[in-house]
Amino acid sequence: MCQRRPCWPTPTDAEQLMAAGYGDQLMLDWWFDREQNTTIYLLTPAIVGSEGGQAPAHPFGPCTFLDEANLCRLHNMGLKPTEGKQALCQNQTPPGLHEDVGRTWHNDTGRTLIDRWENSEQPRGRRRALQTKPTRRKKEYKYGSIKNPTNR
Ligand code: SF4
Repeated sequence: MCQRRPCWPTPTDAEQLMAAGYGDQLMLDWWFDREQNTTIYLLTPAIVGSEGGQAPAHPFGPCTFLDEANLCRLHNMGLKPTEGKQALCQNQTPPGLHEDVGRTWHNDTGRTLIDRWENSEQPRGRRRALQTKPTRRKKEYKYGSIKNPTNR
């Protein structure tokens, strides 16, 4: 997980990370739960480069909390997310752990926490994406890669 896809926290874990000042190192991730036929959004430690944003389309990369010695910076602070705490090496992780942790976000507590995180002073997650897109479009119009619909 630490090197490929960060472990998932529960809303309580994520709230503790935010309270400790690590909100900017989280990212918005999502997962389609086939059992419930619904998409569940959650906050997780970010993949390096996605801090404060959204998980990349192919969410693969090292966790922002992994240090130079390949150790978790949160370990000694008691802030390691639940999935990271309970996962075991050599395929001995309890079955369904990832999905069970993901489902802890499918309620008002999880959604309210995501709202609070995205609507902080610095826009994060989807709010950040909405604010950055118009600038990119403006440049594309300027350099002619797409047609400006207001200038036909
Ligand atoms: S938070 Fe810690 S345990 Fe979880 S993926 Fe990141 S480095 Fe690994």
